[in-house]
Amino acid sequence: MAKKIQTAITPTRTEDYSEWYQQVVRASDMAEHSPVRGCMVIKPWGYALWENIQRSLDDMFKETGVTNAYFPLFIPLSFLEKEAEHVEGFAKECAVVTHHRLEQGPEGGLVPAGKLAEPLVVRPTSETIIGDSFSRWVSSYRDLPLLINQWCNVVRWEMRTRIFLRTSEFLWQEGHTVHATAEEAIARTGQMLDIYADLAEEYLAVPVIRGRKTPSERFPGAVDTLCIEAMMQDRKALQAGTSHFLGQNFATASGIKFQNAQEAEEYAWTTSWGASTRLIGGLIMTHGDDDGIIMPPRVAPSHVVLLPIARKAEERAAVMEYTENLARALRDTWYHHTRLRVEIDDRDIGGARGWEWIKKGIPLRVEIGPRDIAANSVFVARRDKPHREKTSVRRDQFVSGITALLDDIQKNLFSRAADYRKAHTVTIDDRDGFYAFFTPENAEKPEIHGGFVRAHWCESAECEAKIKEDLQVTIRCIPFDSPDEDGRCICCGKPSPRRVIFAKAY
Ligand code: AMP
Ligand code: ZN
Repeated sequence: MAKKIQTAITPTRTEDYSEWYQQVVRASDMAEHSPVRGCMVIKPWGYALWENIQRSLDDMFKETGVTNAYFPLFIPLSFLEKEAEHVEGFAKECAVVTHHRLEQGPEGGLVPAGKLAEPLVVRPTSETIIGDSFSRWVSSYRDLPLLINQWCNVVRWEMRTRIFLRTSEFLWQEGHTVHATAEEAIARTGQMLDIYADLAEEYLAVPVIRGRKTPSERFPGAVDTLCIEAMMQDRKALQAGTSHFLGQNFATASGIKFQNAQEAEEYAWTTSWGASTRLIGGLIMTHGDDDGIIMPPRVAPSHVVLLPIARKAEERAAVMEYTENLARALRDTWYHHTRLRVEIDDRDIGGARGWEWIKKGIPLRVEIGPRDIAANSVFVARRDKPHREKTSVRRDQFVSGITALLDDIQKNLFSRAADYRKAHTVTIDDRDGFYAFFTPENAEKPEIHGGFVRAHWCESAECEAKIKEDLQVTIRCIPFDSPDEDGRCICCGKPSPRRVIFAKAY
């Protein structure tokens, strides 16, 4: 039997993927569970990652003319009720505020009092409250397009929660746009999906499939929902961002009307699009290994940690001076529109120090000892390589080459994830093969769930529901790049126009 390699995270991914994920979050010090079920505390290392994601997305939005605004946390129940499908879709997970003060109860404790005339729903999404403002902001075709985004928290009372991936309260952005024509709104829906795909692939190094949801998976009230889907390392899918074409449904519900150039009144066409702190969970599940998370350099909270090593007290001053000098040179270096983010960790805690940074996933660790200083070189370790693999690099070469090194890590993470997805994406044409693929007894590891299957589907909701019922497998999307191809539905054998992506999902 092979000797078991010691890993920083127990259990490993193959031993217990869900528990591995929880332990990675804990070991990286990114977040913790809160006293409120399903809600999380995002700690500085996790929040810095979120801020970097936020900044990248926000810049991309603004480049397309979007501006930020802020709308209330509370939505009057009557607003939500204006769009029938919408309220039906969200009703089961709404937190509702019904009182506005606390009073001494008969048994001594405080009890809610002062019943509100109309209950207020804590926003699960803001189409209806923003639509109310838009109905007043839009009156002429000259006011269009209206391109608004807000960064905020939302609450969806989820039954099964998992830190970052599915929480009851989460942070996100929600974009809301209004257009004079359907064509323009449809184009905007696609444009924003492309931005999410760029963020995922270029920044998070997470390869995604762009596509369209089936009618049963659409956002409640939407005419069309576009999405990006990523594969996690247990081969489950994660919906990582969505962009909705809302037709005139919400404009009609909220009364968003404009006078066209011919002075006739028309209902406008709207879109909405969102991405959340779920992206952090996706990043962990895509790049993490059995030693912890691996931060893609372009969004990493910090790029490099300097670890001075001075065994004797008399070496310390020289080592620290060299380290601080190196930190200055690095902080002067630009990497993708930002200065390099550099940590110095001079705690005297032995081997635990290096391991902490491994578990936090910092892209580069640099050891600096008296002998390295004498040779004017440093010892460099990449987080995406085995932790023992360290190379001695001349100091100046390290400084001048660090951005290329970070780019290489970024590229390596992406291609590893793309290779993984490719290795676990299969084309299946027979029903038995399809069922076998998704049946755990047939998988080599009980924790690992098949993968992505490209299969034909007749477009009936019945077949989709049957597969979901039998296997807990859903149609993740109808990929944009799925060519027209005559085939037979994997479920009923009737004609199908193209392949779709089936998978188990978070
Ligand atoms: P939606 O408004 O339902 O289209 O969702 C917008 C974005 O929020 C999508 O990218 C979802 O993946 C994400 N999302 C939805 N529900 C949750 C949740 N409970 N926790 C974290 N992210 C979520
Ligand atoms: Zn069928």
